[in-house]
Amino acid sequence: MSFESFRFHPQINAGIRDLGYHTPTPIQEQVIPHALAGRDVIGIAQTGTGKTAAFVLPILQRLMRGPRGRVRAMIVTPTRELAEQIQGVIEALGKHTGIRSVTLYGGVGYQGQIQRLRRGVEIAVVCPGRLLDHLERGTLTLEHLESLTLDEADQMFDMGFLPDVRRILRLAPVDRQTMLFSATMPDAVRSLAREALRDPLIVQIGRSAPVATVTHAIYPVPEHLKTSLLIELLERTDARSVLIFTRTKHRAQRLGETLARLGYRATALHGNLSQNRRQAALDGFRNGRYQILTATDLAARGIDVAHITHVINYDMPPTAEAYTHRIGRTGRAARSGDALTLVTRSDAAMVRAIERLIGEPLKRETVPGFDYNAATSAHETRFDDTPSRHAAAPRRSEPPTHATPRHRSTPRDQETGARPVHAPRMTGMMRAERPDRREARRRRGYARGE
Ligand code: AMP
Repeated sequence: MSFESFRFHPQINAGIRDLGYHTPTPIQEQVIPHALAGRDVIGIAQTGTGKTAAFVLPILQRLMRGPRGRVRAMIVTPTRELAEQIQGVIEALGKHTGIRSVTLYGGVGYQGQIQRLRRGVEIAVVCPGRLLDHLERGTLTLEHLESLTLDEADQMFDMGFLPDVRRILRLAPVDRQTMLFSATMPDAVRSLAREALRDPLIVQIGRSAPVATVTHAIYPVPEHLKTSLLIELLERTDARSVLIFTRTKHRAQRLGETLARLGYRATALHGNLSQNRRQAALDGFRNGRYQILTATDLAARGIDVAHITHVINYDMPPTAEAYTHRIGRTGRAARSGDALTLVTRSDAAMVRAIERLIGEPLKRETVPGFDYNAATSAHETRFDDTPSRHAAAPRRSEPPTHATPRHRSTPRDQETGARPVHAPRMTGMMRAERPDRREARRRRGYARGE
C-alpha cells in the first residue's frame, strides 16, 4: 500500500514526500481511510507506531476544504513537549497547505498565544488546563470545531486530567469527529471513550508490549552502587544517545548533574524546570548537543527523539506499563535499541510483572570486573531519599577485559539469578569523549545553561 491510495490533496502529498514517508505504517493504513470518511476512531497503539500522522493527515485533508482562520480541529495532549512535537508534525506535513496551527499550554505567557489565535489558525494543539483558561477568558471558542483528537488518553488519566477533558468534551459541538489514541486502555479511558465517541472504529496495533526491535536486559546491583554501575555501562557501551529514567524529579536532576560533573554531555528533563529549560533540554538532546538525558516519566510518553540508542532505567518504573512507555523511546520506527534496567532486591516483583507483560524472561546481566561487593561507591549521587555514604575509590576486582571477563559471583547475584556474561561491546567512544577536569567544569556550566 502507498500513500497515493488515500488520495490526499496534492499539497498534503508534497508534505508526506518531504518527510520521506513511502509506506503507511499499520496504524496509518487502518485509521486513515475511516478517519477520512469522518468516522470516530479509537487507536490503541504504542508509541513509535506513526499514530501522529494517522490523525494529522485526515485532519489536514478535512481542513483543505471549508473556511480558514477559525479553530476547526483540536488535539488535546497531556504535556507541553507532546504538544510541540505534534505541532512539528502538523507543520511538516502541512508545510505546503497554508494551514496554520497554534500550541496552547501553561507555563508560558498568554499574550503570544492570544496574538496567534487572533491572526487566525485552523488547528489548536492544547494541554487541557490552558485550553480551559482560554475558553474562560473568551480568547478562544470551540463553536467551529469539527474534529477533536485526544492523544495519549491514558497519560491524561494518570496525570489527573480526565475531569478537564470531560469539561472540554461538554463544551465542544456535539456534531464533531472524535479520535482517541491511547497506549493502554484503563477502565477510566474506556468509559470516557464510551461517553464521547459514536460508533468508533477500534484499531489496536500490537499488545501494549514493547516494540520488537528493542533488546532488554536487567542488571542486578545494590542501591548504593547504581551510579558506579551506570558509569561502567556508559563506558562500555556504544551508547551514542542515552535516555536515563529516574523515579523522581530530584533524582533526575542530581543524576544529570553528577554525569555532567564527570564530563558527560548530560542534562536533565523533569517537571521542576521552567518550560524554557525543558524545551532546551529536549532540543539539545534531539540535536545531539547532549548525549545523555536524565528524566522522569514525564519524558516516557510519546516523545519522539530519533536515534536514541539506549534507554536505561536507573530506577525501576512504577508499573509494567510504564516500562513499555519508557523503552518505547528507543527502537522507534523499527530502529534497533537497547533497554537496560538497574534492579535492586526490592524490584523483584516488578521484574516478574514486566516479564509477564512482555511475555519473555528479561536477560540478567552482570558487568565483568565490576565490584558488586564494594561497600562504598566512587560515583555517588547523593539523593535526599538515599542515606549518605562516604565516597571512596571503587574497588575493582580486575580491570575489565574482553579476553578474560571475570566475575565474582556474589550471594546477591545468586539471589537475583544473575549470571556472568560478557560486557556490552566496549567502544571507548564515551570514554574518549570524556574531557579533562577543566573541560568538565566548563561543560558543567554549559549543562546548567550558564
Ligand atoms: P509517532 O508514533 O507518531 O510518534 O511516530 C514515530 C516516528 O515514525 C516518527 O519519527 C515519525 O516521523 C515516523 N513515521 C511516521 N509515519 C511514518 C511512515 N509512514 N514512514 C516512515 N516513518 C514514519
